[in-house]
Amino acid sequence: MTRRDARPFVPDIGRPPDFHGAAACAGTDAERFYPRQGEHVPRIAKRICGACPVSDECLAWALKFPIEDQFGIWGGTSANERKTLLAARNREGGVS
Ligand code: SF4
Repeated sequence: MTRRDARPFVPDIGRPPDFHGAAACAGTDAERFYPRQGEHVPRIAKRICGACPVSDECLAWALKFPIEDQFGIWGGTSANERKTLLAARNREGGVS
């Protein structure tokens, strides 16, 4: 999850995740989902995620990546929000 591109994409595993076909962000401007450091999280990205039928799957997929690899908006969450979730999970013993 490190580069900006048309959404969704999965450069780390080289293929789209299973929810790819139903993603509300497919074909949208990927820039909306990747605020640069210091930029606020675009509300439009969270709104798109809020109407996405695969939001739960998307968030679960994003949470499979380690804290240091969290970038962009996935499953309606920002990278910082997922880092907080992952840190809490790690404190609780890594149970998902
Ligand atoms: S939850 Fe958001 S980022 Fe994930 S597939 Fe849906 S629209 Fe895209």
